[in-house]
Amino acid sequence: MYFIVIFLLSLVFFSEVIMLSSSNNQVYICSGLSILPLILAVYFTKKIFSYIVFALSIISAVIIFVLGIENYLALFLGLCFTATFIIALENKKRFTKNKINFNNEIKKKKKAIICCKEDNNKSEEHISEVSQQSQEIENLYEITKRMSAYLRFEDIFRILCSELKNTFEFDDCRLIHINRIKGEVHLEEVYDIPIESRIKDAKSYDYKIIQIIYEKSLSLSLPQAQKDAEEYGLILPLKVESLLAIPIYIDEYIRSVVIVENMNLESFEKFSIVIGQFGLEMRKVRLYELVEKLAITDGLTGLLLKRHFLISFEKEMERLVTNKIEISVLMLDIDHFKKFNDRFGHLVGDGVLIKISDIIRNNTREIDLICRYGGEEFCLALPETSKEGAYAVAERIREQIERENFMAEGKFTRASISIGVATCPDDSNEILDLIDKADQALYKAKASGRNNTCIFDNKRQIG
Ligand code: GH3
Ligand code: MG
Ligand code: MG
Repeated sequence: MYFIVIFLLSLVFFSEVIMLSSSNNQVYICSGLSILPLILAVYFTKKIFSYIVFALSIISAVIIFVLGIENYLALFLGLCFTATFIIALENKKRFTKNKINFNNEIKKKKKAIICCKEDNNKSEEHISEVSQQSQEIENLYEITKRMSAYLRFEDIFRILCSELKNTFEFDDCRLIHINRIKGEVHLEEVYDIPIESRIKDAKSYDYKIIQIIYEKSLSLSLPQAQKDAEEYGLILPLKVESLLAIPIYIDEYIRSVVIVENMNLESFEKFSIVIGQFGLEMRKVRLYELVEKLAITDGLTGLLLKRHFLISFEKEMERLVTNKIEISVLMLDIDHFKKFNDRFGHLVGDGVLIKISDIIRNNTREIDLICRYGGEEFCLALPETSKEGAYAVAERIREQIERENFMAEGKFTRASISIGVATCPDDSNEILDLIDKADQALYKAKASGRNNTCIFDNKRQIG
């Protein structure tokens, strides 16, 4: 742009100078004017070269004026024009160079913009990935939070089931509780996860899966179930295409295993995390159950302590009395136990207490309440049981104890118990009174020779 302006200005001034120089008077004014484009050129370019050319032109102009040599005027004008033209050319060169630089700069900027856009896309992808991950973490946190509000296995299991059903797709999923007795693995309880309930049997190949997990002490992941199972000598039904089995440790032992079949491989990791969280909650629940059990049961026999027995009995009594249903009480006492202790020592006596507790437990139902009432006295509350029914239970227990061989000093020895029976509402509607009536019947049993059962009778006690 500068180049064109300067060049045109030079041309205008030069032609003007030629015209005016024909009139001799104004020749000096014209020569002065002809230097104007040169000044402009120098002003715009501001290069050392321009200053040199300008200086040369001024020197030649001064020489012409001082010497008054008119013949040199044309030479001066030519010099001015040439200098202006050279400066303009130089300027153009600079302009072209700047233009190239500018174009390169634009290219670089465009490239940078493309890179920025790519980075931006990557960032967006990354952001969506991160937000997805954070959503998953949030979900996990939510499950843990929901589970942590409960202290019962049934509750945390219900939350696990709903989470697994909503988040994952699979054909079959089960939770198996394991018990290890004398080094042998037993599958205790099996829960079907989608339907949230306990089922009767594990699958035929579950036992082998659990054995493998025990050996590995790690999860068993079979993304291509049929092929991968060969390595472990595991035979799976053809419909099983993928399998994941995750152990749940409690107190350093595998206590449960979750097995899932035909689940999307991408879900394996997240599934493992959810089960890991569930495992932590299960540990808490089991610990709570243990503490609760220790608080309400006797350390030696595992039977209910008197306080908790009376609380549970009260609740049960209320329900049964309202519905006019019978409930019976048995009071049991070991015969001549003091002598037994004196003869064989307290340790042997403790063994007898444990064995008798087991016999009582094995001869009663889940709903019956069994309590270690005192030192070697036991109290049983049998809901929905008549006097006759209670008498039958008492006799069954008494006879089994009578037949039992107790080990003492390397020899078998015998023990016996006496039992008293009382029933609500026949004998009393009040718990402590009912227990007292059973105790009276027990006293009668002791008095009538021990190793027998007596029923309390309101009119008279019968043996
Ligand atoms: P009876 O036939 O009249 O019941 O005679 P008994 O000797 O059993 O008399 P009693 O019921 O009064 O005796 C209770 C004995 O039970 C006293 C004590 O040595 C024993 N005993 C109480 N608690 C324990 C215990 O935890 N372990 C052991 N080994 N013995 C206990
Ligand atoms: Mg006693
Ligand atoms: Mg006794």
